[in-house]
Amino acid sequence: MRVLLVAPPGAGKGTQGALIATHFGIPHIATGDLLRDHVARRTELGQAVQEHLDRGELVPDAVVLDMVRDAFIESRTSNGGGYVLDGMPRNMTQARALYEIGRSLEMTADVALHLKADDEELTRRLLARAALEGRSDDTEEVIRRRLALYHEVTHPIVDWYAERGILVSVDAVQPVQRVARQILTALEAMRPLIDHVPEHARRPIDLTSLGTAFGHA
Ligand code: AMP
Repeated sequence: MRVLLVAPPGAGKGTQGALIATHFGIPHIATGDLLRDHVARRTELGQAVQEHLDRGELVPDAVVLDMVRDAFIESRTSNGGGYVLDGMPRNMTQARALYEIGRSLEMTADVALHLKADDEELTRRLLARAALEGRSDDTEEVIRRRLALYHEVTHPIVDWYAERGILVSVDAVQPVQRVARQILTALEAMRPLIDHVPEHARRPIDLTSLGTAFGHA
């Protein structure tokens, strides 16, 4: 199973990414975590990207693309080539480049999972996380910038994946376990079809009204 997570900051990418990875026994590749690890270890790369992270700006595309190519190769060698990629792509250039990397390694994504949530809820969650984790980019001003960046350059990718037929959208403003159940149910239902139905013959799957349909406002 190869999954990309496309979601605004605070939507639960890290939590859901880890759950999907455990469920399918695949590596959870989180670009933000990889970059923060470089910063913490004060590597050359870490020192070069720290300011971008602190300001809530994207680091240069080439840096993350190289990191992810290495992680894909590692997954192919040791894990059969599955992955949950969390935090990438963040813009259209990355989306196209990632597709090319995937094609060259025969590891293109099976599913682009979109976690949907409104800015008010996301800001509330990120401020709560700030109190717990003290991340340098969870201040009110930087949160506003990261959300604006998401709407401007990241969200447009969602339509691209819808056109490719690999988009699954889930309402992330629900209890974590319910979001997880909806995601895993959808992915399990798709799993047997992935190798048999070509991308161009698929349709996007929208589960964002599921909660309301079953009586949860
Ligand atoms: P995240 O943990 O996904 O919220 O990412 C934290 C920060 O890492 C972002 O605000 C960016 O500065 C940087 N970052 C993570 N992934 C990417 C990416 N794919 N492209 C550029 N910058 C990224």
